[in-house]
Amino acid sequence: MTLHIDDLQGLNPVRLASMPIAHSEGGMQTLLRSTQEPVALTGSRHSQGGHTVYPNAMAILTEPMNRVLHIDREQRTVTAQAGTTWSVLHAHLAPLGLAPLVQQSSPHFTLGGSISVNCHGRDPGQGPLANNIVSLDVLVPSPAGPKPQTVTPGDALFKAVVGGYGSAAVIVNATLKATANTMLRQRSVEMGLQAYAQEMADRQSLGQWPALHFAWLNFSAKALFTSVLKVDCEPVEGQVGTVLTEDGWLEIELMRWLWEQHSQNGGAGNYRNKVWNTLVTWFKSQNHENNGQGKQLSRIDWLRQSVGFTAHRSETHASLLQEYFIPIDRLTPFVTALGALLQKHKVNLLSSTVRVVQQEEQPSYLSYAPDQAMACIALDFESPLVSGPTAHSRMPALATFRWVRQAIDLALAHQGRYYLPYYGFATREQFRRAYRHAEAQRQARNPQLNNLFIDVYLV
Ligand SMILES: Cc1cc2nc3c(=O)[nH]c(=O)nc-3n(C[C@H](O)[C@H](O)[C@H](O)COP(=O)(O)OP(=O)(O)OC[C@H]3O[C@@H](n4cnc5c(N)ncnc54)[C@H](O)[C@@H]3O)c2cc1C
Repeated sequence: MTLHIDDLQGLNPVRLASMPIAHSEGGMQTLLRSTQEPVALTGSRHSQGGHTVYPNAMAILTEPMNRVLHIDREQRTVTAQAGTTWSVLHAHLAPLGLAPLVQQSSPHFTLGGSISVNCHGRDPGQGPLANNIVSLDVLVPSPAGPKPQTVTPGDALFKAVVGGYGSAAVIVNATLKATANTMLRQRSVEMGLQAYAQEMADRQSLGQWPALHFAWLNFSAKALFTSVLKVDCEPVEGQVGTVLTEDGWLEIELMRWLWEQHSQNGGAGNYRNKVWNTLVTWFKSQNHENNGQGKQLSRIDWLRQSVGFTAHRSETHASLLQEYFIPIDRLTPFVTALGALLQKHKVNLLSSTVRVVQQEEQPSYLSYAPDQAMACIALDFESPLVSGPTAHSRMPALATFRWVRQAIDLALAHQGRYYLPYYGFATREQFRRAYRHAEAQRQARNPQLNNLFIDVYLV
């Protein structure tokens, strides 16, 4: 039987030697000992650049390693296996009134995958996940057999494993900090880009951030990137959530339908304007809930957004993500120039958001916020597909490579970086310019571990 695997996005198909499941640390050790083939590690496979696949490799599925091992309520820490998703963790933490301190906006990612990309989320007072790690149990593959090790912040191996895209060691368990699952009320306000950027700079200099924050950048055709819908969540005094509300994000499915119309109409101006207006009306209507206090959910429930809206939808087009990290005081010039670039290249932009991530204090080699807090500008866009390098494979059209590389240059010119878990548009030279410790990461690479990201950028 021939085995194939791909990212969920479907743009990096490879033929595998084998695809075993790891259920435990012992099982993982046996698998690593049993093969001379390269080993690729897979979490939930939401990364989009072949980070979990490699031709003729053993691709180890880690999701069944999903046990929550220990919760320390006093110290507010949680220890879980690497295949555990945030969603599973929520089910254990919420009844205790606890929540993850840092995670993505959605709960469908594994801890191993999240640590390996060093994710960030909607809490603007927090840095990348690296800051939130107490310790990691890892296995370091070697010809004599995998070596178990516990790594803590400051260790050379910690710097290479966190944000290392499965290149340095296999994460088995992680101990992470937790926080209170505070009830939060949301308020959404529309404002000009410049006023928003000034407010972000003021909040940063005062160190006064809401509990959660993000903003939608205006993606309508008529006013692209000239205004934002700012979305803040503030604590409801003294209230902590202990129950998961599964339907907190039902509306996103409605938005998905609108996005689909938008995408099928090639980003035609009218649809873009309609989608933007609907989004603004929807968010503002939530300000009126609870007698005008604003919609209330627990911290966890605000971070349970579906990722279905970016799912694979078409044989001819893919919905892709890119994200740029820019110093907060450069937000306006960067976003303005990025908007002009998207217009010039007639990019079918589906949506765009801004978040904030604080400086990384527990360093990793491939850090995207090593020196200061950064604004994170994410783009969700559609690209036409063309035939790829191997039979039945498809890849984004050349025109997409062109504008994305220009956008990366723009980020670099503003002392920024681009995020690494998405499709590999960047040249090696752009990667090296963006990540000044790339060489240290390359040297820390374990020869038995491989994937298409490592193969392009870390060899
Ligand atoms: C719709 C969408 C929304 C997103 N939102 C955010 C966001 O809000 N914030 C953010 O920071 N990112 C975001 N991302 C990016 C996301 O964080 C990454 O794609 C992340 O890798 C997904 O986790 P995963 O479990 O799917 O990892 P995978 O894609 O399965 O793996 C990612 C990397 O981790 C490695 N890996 C997996 N398990 C292990 C292990 N046990 N040991 C060592 N290495 C391992 C893999 O080899 C691979 O290199 C988003 C992505 C999508 C598609």
